[in-house]
Parts: sequence; structure tokens; C-alpha cells
Amino acid sequence: MSDTTKFGFALGRSKKNNTMASVKEFSIEEKLSSLVSLQKVDSKLDEIQILKGELPMEVKDLEDEIEGLHARQTRVEEEINGIQEFIEQKKEGIKTAQALIKKYEKQSDNVKNNREFEAINKEIEMQVLEEKLCEKHIKDATEEIAEKAKALELAKKAVSTKETNLSGKKGELEKIISETEKEEKHFNKLAANARGHVDQRLLNSYDRIRNNFRNGLGVVPVERDSCGGCFHAIPPQKQSEIKLRKKIIVCENCGRILIDTDLNDSISIS
Ligand SMILES: [Zn+2]
Repeated sequence: MSDTTKFGFALGRSKKNNTMASVKEFSIEEKLSSLVSLQKVDSKLDEIQILKGELPMEVKDLEDEIEGLHARQTRVEEEINGIQEFIEQKKEGIKTAQALIKKYEKQSDNVKNNREFEAINKEIEMQVLEEKLCEKHIKDATEEIAEKAKALELAKKAVSTKETNLSGKKGELEKIISETEKEEKHFNKLAANARGHVDQRLLNSYDRIRNNFRNGLGVVPVERDSCGGCFHAIPPQKQSEIKLRKKIIVCENCGRILIDTDLNDSISIS
């Protein structure tokens, strides 16, 4: 907690009111200081949420990708097995053709006439063709297997890269979860404390503004004569008023609560 807030706390309790300190006792400046503290704590909590929010998704995506790659690997392996079976069939085909050729050649020694001789010769020719066709099929299939084996090798490499990546992300996630548990508790306590120093109406508008913007900023300093949230120019007169810290002043363009840089810089969260 900053000195400003501590100072604010002390002032609040010193007021003439022996019931429990109510937020009404805090000056605008004190409320603004608390809002700045709250904003800084909330931004830290947002960072934790972002860290946690993305890693589980990344882990899940990697797991899905690895599953897909494994499925692909299995498919390619099955395809290779199928082709190998095909090659075996063609090898059998060659054996059958060769056996038939031998059989026909033997028969051709005992032919009775020319017609029979020609018929057997035709059969032999057909089996020679069949043998050649089987050889061609085997050659093509062997090439196909070589290609598939290459694809399989790539798929395996991809899986191992993704798996390394996954175990890294998982470790990171576990580390963040264990680290942030403590941090989150600490920051939630600080946030609750800061909220206790701001009245509900102001808190409501702070929460509403914060929820309206993706960067979660509801309180911003004036930077280079502009709103630190939307960069809308802030006229000098308004800047002077902001520096006085007597009124809650919002950016007329984005509605964010404006504070001076000195106040913003005086508060740091740890
Ligand atoms: Zn603005």
C-alpha cells in the first residue's frame, strides 16, 4: 500500500465519529488514491487471468494436434501394411504364373497338332505378361511405400516436436497455477481493502467502466494532455481541476475516471 493510502486511512479514522469508519469520511483525494490502488491491483489480477486463460487453451490445442498426428501416423502405417499385403499377393501371382509357364512348356513337348501348340503358346504368353504386370505392380508399390515411409517419418518428428512443446507448456501452466495462487490471494486482499475506502456509487461506476473496456482500465492518468485511456485531449482548465483532487472527473469521451500523473505515480503495488 502507498503512503498516500496509508495517510488517507489515518485521516479517515481520525474524524469525529466513534462508530466504525465509513467511506463517507474519506476525502475525494483519498478515494481517488484508493481507486488507483484498486486499479493497479485489478490490472495485476487481469494479467494473471490472461496468463491462466491462454495456457490451458494452448495445452488443449497441442493435445488435440498430437492426437490428430497420431491418428495420421496410424493411418499411414495401415496404408503401408495394405501395400505390403498387395506386394505379397503380386509375388504369389508371379510364382503362380511361373509355375503355369513351366506346366505349359512341359505340355508343349507333347502336343499332337499345330492348333494345340498355338493354344499352349498363347497361354504361356499370357502368363509371361501376367508375370511382367505383377513385377510392375510390385515396383510401383515399393515406390509408394518409400514415399509413405517418408511421410511417416515426418509425422513422427512432428509428434515429438509437439510433445516437447506440450510438456513445456504443461510445466509452465503448473508453475503459473502454483505461483499465482499465492499472488491472487494477496492481490484479492489488497483489492478488498482498497474497495473498503471507496463509496459504492463510485465503485459501481469504476466496475462498469472497467468491464466496458478490453484493457480493463477504469481509472487512468492524464498523459501528454490527453486521457490515458482513449487519448482524447483534456483541456488545461480540466487538467488543473484534476490536479486539485477535489472532484471526481471523468473523460467526456470514454467515461474513465481521470487522475493526475503524480497521484498515479505515487502509488505502487507489490
Ligand atoms: Zn477517455
